[in-house]
This record gives sequence, C-alpha cells and structure tokens, in this order.
Amino acid sequence: MSDKPSRFPLSLSSVVDKKKAGAGQGSAGGRAQATTQTAAKNAAQSSQNLPRAPLKPVQQGLSQALRAQPAPLPAANRPVAPSQPLLSAAPAPRTAVKNVMTVTQTNNSSHASPLASEAVRRAMVARVAKQGVADAKVLAALEAVPRHMFVEPGLASQAYIDASLPIGHHQTISQPYIVARMIEIMRQNNKGGKLERVLEIGTGCGYQAAVLSRVVGEVYSIERIKPLHELAKTNLRPLRIANIRLHYGDGMLGLPQVAPFDGIILAAAGLEVPQALLEQLAVGGRLVAPVGGRQQMLELIERVGQRDWRSTTMEQCHFVPLRPGTV
Ligand code: SAH
Repeated sequence: MSDKPSRFPLSLSSVVDKKKAGAGQGSAGGRAQATTQTAAKNAAQSSQNLPRAPLKPVQQGLSQALRAQPAPLPAANRPVAPSQPLLSAAPAPRTAVKNVMTVTQTNNSSHASPLASEAVRRAMVARVAKQGVADAKVLAALEAVPRHMFVEPGLASQAYIDASLPIGHHQTISQPYIVARMIEIMRQNNKGGKLERVLEIGTGCGYQAAVLSRVVGEVYSIERIKPLHELAKTNLRPLRIANIRLHYGDGMLGLPQVAPFDGIILAAAGLEVPQALLEQLAVGGRLVAPVGGRQQMLELIERVGQRDWRSTTMEQCHFVPLRPGTV
C-alpha cells in the first residue's frame, strides 16, 4: 500500500490516498463490493434469494432449528477480563421462554436439525471467503457466531444470506462480508494480528461485537440508541461472552477513560472520522471506518506516530450514518 503520512490534526480528506480509491472498487483482488445496507434493498435481495412466507416445511424446520437450537459458543480461550462484565453470565430467561414458545407454537420440532444452523453458517462463511476474506481466524469467528440469534425471529431464516437486515430504529445488522472484511483489515497490524483492546462504534444488535470477541482480548462497543443498546445486551447475554463491554453513549466521543485502543471499528459512516477517535488510537493501532455520505469508502487509518496518521482507501461500502448525541 502506498500511503502518505500526515500530521495531526488532520481532516480525513487530506489524508485519503485518492489513487487507491478506485483500485479497491469492484474487481480488485476479487473483492466484492459491500451491498447497500438498507431495509429496502435487503427486502429485495432477500426475496430473490429465499421465498417469503408461507415457509415451506423444510424452511420452517430450518427456521425452527435456528431459533430453537442456538449453537453455544465454546468458551473463549482467553482470560476473562478482570473488571465487571456488563453482560451477566446468567442465561436470559426471556430468551429461553421465547425459544420454548417457538417450538410449542409450531409443534413441528421433528424437522429441526441441531446441525442446521451450523451447516448454513458454514455455507455463509464459504461465500464470504469466496468474496476475498482470507484471514482464517476471522472466518472461524464468523462461523462460530450464531447470526440468527441477532435478528428478529421472523428473519431467522434469512440470517445467513450475505446481506444486512433491519434491526429496528432504521438501523441494520451489518452484512457478514463487511463485518469480516473490517476485522481482517484491522488485524493486519505489525503484531501478527494480536489485538488487546478494540473499540466498536455502533453496537446495533451486537453481532459484530460477538465476532470481534473471538479474535481480540477485550471489545468495547458503544451504541447511541438506547433500545438497541438494550437489544444487544439481550442478544449477547445467552452467549455468555466475558470479554465484551457495552456502553450507551455517543461513540463519536470514543471512550477516553479506556483508551488507547489497538483497533477501532466504526459501523456507521461519517463524512470524516471524529478526531477524538484518532486520538484514542494507540500508536501502531488501526482504525477501520466507512467514510462518506451517499457514496462511501472503507478507510483504514493507521497511527504511525504520536502525531502522525496514515490513511488508505480500501473499497466501496454502504453503512447507516454516524450521528452525534444519544437517543
Ligand atoms: N455493529 C452492528 C451494526 C449496527 S448498524 C452489527 O453488528 O451489525 C450501526 C449502528 O451505529 C446503529 O445501531 C447506529 O445507531 C449506531 N450509531 C450511529 N452513530 C453512532 C454514534 N455516534 N455512537 C454510537 N453508535 C452510533
């Protein structure tokens, strides 16, 4: 990558390597473009890929399996963070009740295969790999996280298509490809992918935080919409992940009390990367963010010195907007 160093403070446009901007688009290295992450597009994509209701028995069975057989994440092979986890280790009774109700309502559990969600997840990961994600550790993390547990029950049968899906409040769960790609880029550091502390801006339903938790030491994730912050807690609780800390607040301000971070990922697009986040990146750290309005590019910003940052444009993408304040 040919990058140009910049002095801080910097406006993002001043550090973007324009030459790279076109190179990552479309075909470069077989990379797929991120698809537009809007509910409308999702609906269109989904209806192309999977028939809508009424579900055929097999799909119904699959959908049931997805809800009724949440694949437990194996205990993470990393130390449990010493401070109080925001996520209680106790299983969520509400989720358990929901699962029981699903089985009872449909009364058709004989179709449910415990392996169904794992099989469709493997197929999803194979597609993501085909699109160009090569990092085996990231692909393994993607395979381990049950994405269907992060979408509404009605969308569970669509959880493993490579698309973003609505999660309410005009927000979306990110497309698996772009989740994997951002983490892959962040891991390409000079420590062989080792990342102690990572910050995610835009928890949404908590899916990317769960994937991140499998490849980094500690994940801090901030969400500005209170009901989504609560949703993420509910979604993550049954997975018993010890190394995620969820925060309700304006992610544009970062978490100065926890900084510096080895990696920062933004799951929402601003016209530029907030300065507070650049300052909270450790020297040698990598920040991955969508930047732009209607046209967005995925940017990598590396902190190369105490006052030096370097930016590289990776590929086209489409995210929901980064907004200030909390609601
Ligand atoms: N990480 C999610 C993607 C969620 S979509 C996933 O795993 O699928 C992006 C999220 O960013 C939305 O929930 C939106 O509310 C949130 N967001 C936007 N601006 C924000 C800000 N300033 N601080 C925190 N979250 C923000």
